[in-house]
Amino acid sequence: LCEQGAEINFSTVYRILENFTQKGLTEKSFLTDARKYGFVLHALGHRHRLICLRCHRIVEVDHCPITDFEEQLADKTEFAIVGHNLEWYGYCPQCRKQK
Ligand SMILES: [Zn+2]
Ligand SMILES: [Zn+2]
Repeated sequence: LCEQGAEINFSTVYRILENFTQKGLTEKSFLTDARKYGFVLHALGHRHRLICLRCHRIVEVDHCPITDFEEQLADKTEFAIVGHNLEWYGYCPQCRKQK
């Protein structure tokens, strides 16, 4: 939009993304590397995340830990695998401290 010369400010972008999140197109989540909240686009199942059972904080994990396993699984089951979702449940550092 900026390249096209459109005047758009940060709060507008933020509002649109909040709107997308309400409609289920994106999801607000904690970004580990940047250490702040961002928005993640809902793509066809390929993601890994940690979910805090107490405060429901979500931490996205960029690294894919199961590439090899997935290949073996595809071989074994003869499935053409196109995606996966992986979730770990537990308690985030803040919640552990409050315990
Ligand atoms: Zn927590
Ligand atoms: Zn993966």
